[in-house]
Amino acid sequence: MEVKINKGIISLIQGDITKQDTEAIVNAANKTLLGGGGVDGAIHRAGGKAILEECIKIGGCETGEAVITTGGNLPAKYVIHTVGPVYRDGTRGEPDLLASAYRSSLTLASANNIKSISFPSISTGAYRFPLEQAAGIALQIAINYLHEHDYIELICFVLFGQDAFDAFEKKLGQLT
Ligand code: ADP
Repeated sequence: MEVKINKGIISLIQGDITKQDTEAIVNAANKTLLGGGGVDGAIHRAGGKAILEECIKIGGCETGEAVITTGGNLPAKYVIHTVGPVYRDGTRGEPDLLASAYRSSLTLASANNIKSISFPSISTGAYRFPLEQAAGIALQIAINYLHEHDYIELICFVLFGQDAFDAFEKKLGQLT
């Protein structure tokens, strides 16, 4: 599914983010930046040790913030590592922190002249953020960003599995 917003496109695909050839892919990292399971493990495995070496030098990342490294052996030139919130009960700032993780990643992409970027569904795996709410937040931030920035051309959401794809597709239909 593709939707044009201002000068850019939001695209939803089902697949593996490590295979994407957008200029940047986003990693749903943890605060240590030292790798983990899920999409984080997949990115470090496919990208090789150059990514981890830069992450070690950076030293960590706060929840809602983002940092950038090389893409190493990945098709993408850069990996933007952002830390989504661990979902507890929804009253601990989780929605704002998730929005901030998406916004920080997009701002950092723009600062590096990146015109195409792929996101996974941040926080909806091990961090247990409810999928439908997370999809709404992710897409609203992407829509707002494209309205406010003419430069970025493509924001792609690479959803792993049918449930995530269906949730994003439904929300994008509602929001556009
Ligand atoms: P978090 O700790 O932020 O919840 P996870 O990696 O556990 O991060 O999960 C985030 C999302 O990434 C989940 O929807 C999971 O299914 C998805 N995911 C896992 N591997 C990949 C991959 N290779 N490409 C894209 N998405 C992936």
